[in-house]
Amino acid sequence: MCKVDDLIEEYGLTAPGSDYDSIDDYLAQRWTGSDGRSPEGYKKLTDWFNKRVLKAIYEKHGRSTVSIHLDREYNVIINEDNIQRTELAADLEGDGMDIDELKKTLVSHGTIRSHFKNCLEVEKDTQASTKSSSNSREKAIASAKRMASSKTQDILPDLTETGVVPHADEAIIDVEIRLKCPECDTRVPIEDAIQRGYICKEHMADSQITDSPDNPTTDSSDNAESDGGTTPEHQDKSKLNCNTSSKSLFAICLLSQALAIIGEQAPNLIDTITYTA
Ligand SMILES: [Zn+2]
Ligand SMILES: [Zn+2]
Repeated sequence: MCKVDDLIEEYGLTAPGSDYDSIDDYLAQRWTGSDGRSPEGYKKLTDWFNKRVLKAIYEKHGRSTVSIHLDREYNVIINEDNIQRTELAADLEGDGMDIDELKKTLVSHGTIRSHFKNCLEVEKDTQASTKSSSNSREKAIASAKRMASSKTQDILPDLTETGVVPHADEAIIDVEIRLKCPECDTRVPIEDAIQRGYICKEHMADSQITDSPDNPTTDSSDNAESDGGTTPEHQDKSKLNCNTSSKSLFAICLLSQALAIIGEQAPNLIDTITYTA
């Protein structure tokens, strides 16, 4: 039991709509994306939860809970630097509420995070979310290849007509997206990397699948933007080297266009570019 559980109980918070069994069910499914919608992060879910709590408190004090007011006032309540805070504080006092007490009642991202981990015991990487993200990964890779293939198709007639490559326009275009280790010459088709769970066993594998006592991963990007280094999101990322978000796959899509055009002349460069995506 944590502060989140206490608030759910104290204000009798229930599931939003019939698609979810409870507030906790909603939070867990929205976080993992197991309800089929795209997963949300801690910040959004924390704001969502806090607004539910605020709405319940407002109702108790007979204050308007129209969402447009609630959204605006929520932002003023949690932001102590907001210039409208004094004004809102006076207004809330008129309804019997103290703005600082309200802020203290609401929860932080960290509290929501530990509620997921310790109370609900949900992991971002559930079966359902793995399955749905692997579907969207496959689609993104296929789409990247289609784009590369189509861009290549465009330049083949010119190659034929100018005699640079005779019969080029009759060729079958075979697109492969490979990921290359930044440390050595290991390169692997992206599908294979996903299946085996790493790009280069020596330089880019997680400590779980390497015998080396010190983590040989020289890539520090996992820690670079960490707010503590141990969030489940970051752990998930390092567990699967190729667990690319759809955003980065989109980048691969774009890069594969470049790949199609300059691939013939500079294959080494392409592998490097593709890896960066
Ligand atoms: Zn809890
Ligand atoms: Zn390597």
